[in-house]
Formats: sequence, C-alpha cells, structure tokens
Amino acid sequence: MTTAALYATPLGRPTVSFEIFPPRTPAAADTLWDTVQRLATVNPDYISVTYGASGSTRDSSRGIVRRILAETPITAVAHLTCVGASPAQAAALVGDFLDEGVRNILALRGDPPKDQPDWQPPAGCLTYASDLVGLIRQIERDRRGAGPRADAVDPLSVCVAAYPGGTASPTRAQDVAALLAKQEAGADYALTQLFYDPAAYAGLVHDARAAGVHLPIVPGLIPMTDPGRLTRLAGLTGVQPPADLMARLSATDDVEERHRIGIGATVDLAHAVLDAGAPGLHIYTFNTYRAALDLLEGVHLDGGAPRALDLASGPWVSATPTPKAQGHR
Ligand code: FAD
Repeated sequence: MTTAALYATPLGRPTVSFEIFPPRTPAAADTLWDTVQRLATVNPDYISVTYGASGSTRDSSRGIVRRILAETPITAVAHLTCVGASPAQAAALVGDFLDEGVRNILALRGDPPKDQPDWQPPAGCLTYASDLVGLIRQIERDRRGAGPRADAVDPLSVCVAAYPGGTASPTRAQDVAALLAKQEAGADYALTQLFYDPAAYAGLVHDARAAGVHLPIVPGLIPMTDPGRLTRLAGLTGVQPPADLMARLSATDDVEERHRIGIGATVDLAHAVLDAGAPGLHIYTFNTYRAALDLLEGVHLDGGAPRALDLASGPWVSATPTPKAQGHR
C-alpha cells in the first residue's frame, strides 16, 4: 500500500511515522541503523529521510533510503528539495530515486543559501515545492505511459510540508495558499513543521479546509526533552517553545527528570492533536529512539508486542511480521 492510499483508507488507528537524517560520520551511521531497528519495533507506517538543500546530503540520503528499502519492511519516504535546480536536474534526481525503488517522496523547496540573503533562483529553475510536485507527477505519467516496466508502474505518493507554528511565508494566508498550490499540483498529504500549541495545528487545519485544502495534514512532533535543542530549533524555525516548559526543563540537570518532564508534555500535545482529528503522528527523532518510543507508549500507539529483535545476527527483516504489520501494509 502506498502512503497516499494509507491516508485514503481509514486504518482504525492513527498513523505512526518518524523522521531521521543522514549520518555525518561512520559511527553515527551505526547508531542510526540501531535507531532504525529500534523504531521498527513499533511497526511504523513509514520513516522519512531528510535531504540537504542543494544536494548536500544527496548520496547519504539515498544510501539510507536504499538500506531501509532493502533490509526492512518499512516504507521509506525520501525528502527531495528543488531550490536552485533546473527542471532537468530535478528530473534526474527524481529519476535516480525512482530507479532505486522509491515510491514515496516528500517534495520540498528547501532553504536558499543562508549566506546569501538576496539570493534569487536562477532563471528557469524550479521556484516552489509545488513546481517539484508537478514535475514528479509528470515523470510518473511519462514512466507509466512508457510501457510495462515493472519498476515504473507503481503509483507514487507525494507528501508536502505545512506550517502550523512559525510560518514559512509572511502570513498564514500565504502558507495556506502554498499548501493549496501543492495540493493542486498533485500532493497526497502534508507533514507539518514542529509546533508546541495544539491550537496552532487545529487553526492551520481549519484555515486550510476553509481554503479548499482536503489533504490529510499530519502533525510533526518533537519530543520536548532537551531545552538546548528546543532553543536551537527556535532559532532555526522561529517557533518558540512554551516558556513554562522551558523553565521546568531548565530547573534540573537530571537528564532522567528532563526526559520525564519532556515526554509528559509531548504526550499531552499528542493527545490534544489526536483529539483535534490528526490522522497520525510524525515524530522528529533526531536519530535517537528512546524519546520517540516513550512518546508513542504514552499515547498507546507503540504497536503492542514488539518484534523479536536479533541485533547480533543480521537484518531482522526475516522476523515474523506481527498481525498489526500485516494488517496495515
Ligand atoms: P514552498 O511550499 O515552496 O513555500 C516556500 C515559500 O514560497 C513560502 O513563502 C510560500 O508562501 C511561497 N510560495 C509557495 N508557492 C508559491 C506560489 N505558487 N506563488 C507565490 N509564493 C509561493 N529542508 C531541507 O532542505 N531538507 C529537508 O529534508 C527538509 N525536510 C522538511 C520536512 C518538513 C516536514 C518540513 C515542514 C520542512 C522541511 N524542510 C527541509 C524545510 C523546507 O525546505 C523549508 O521550510 C523551505 O523554506 C520551504 O519549503 P516548502 O516545501 O514548504 O516550500
């Protein structure tokens, strides 16, 4: 089942998904793979793999996506960015991923170069994520029309970004207009940037629906256990963490106590967005598993009995799938 179909059919439970990023060192690669295996124990619906704008992590992103596809039963969603790319360059990138079996793409604009505040996309380059969504759909039509190639006929699922908290645009209305443009270009569902206020998520969904956006909008949650990380993310995204939570986290140096406080707050946020009708939870893992799994346990979405992990003797892909995994794939 593609990820798009997954949101088209009621599952009887919210989806569970994770974001990971490409490792920067060989040691980090080992840690990441351990994380993937641990995350797999809750039978996630998909794991998304980030991609550096301008192709800075192109090869490592591809490597991780390829390994997830080859060695696990998990659906991999490949993030792709288009900022500064010509249509031919973007098409080649998409083609490379499709040739490796990727069928699920998170189509993003990407951030312009940080050291060039006046940067403008070169003439003829893709400008917005909606351009990339349209290009992916064109490639899909071309490949599906090109003949009975077994690797070319599966439908693609295209995800896009949405912004409940600090906006990617000057106003919420422009954010919603961009989301509508991505829907019209062929997107299937949206994942949100991190946020801390459930009303921000509910407000985005409300405004999007009023504008004609019918895409499932899946909230992206960060486990709020590390005040230093929350401060850094505020600098990057403009989304401020709650002052009272920051005060409670900063009042102790005990890592376990911070974990308990942060997971409690994130579980409350997850319950609130699920109560508001969220179709699933997408968790920003920062390549670690404990906080993500504790969060899911807190909202009772941790998949019941875990898979039997045999980390010492190779890929656990040979482990017998649980009934839940069979039922949802
Ligand atoms: P767009 O939807 O193209 O929007 C960008 C800007 O253009 C907005 O201001 C919007 O209002 C405006 N705009 C859009 N369409 C139009 C139009 N038709 N006319 C006029 N204005 C328009 N970045 C990475 O580099 N790698 C990643 O892996 C990555 N993963 C992400 C995952 C998620 C879930 C999210 C939320 C973000 C991610 N990002 C990633 C960051 C993202 O690339 C940046 O936030 C980027 O600045 C905006 O990307 P977008 O796809 O939302 O852009």
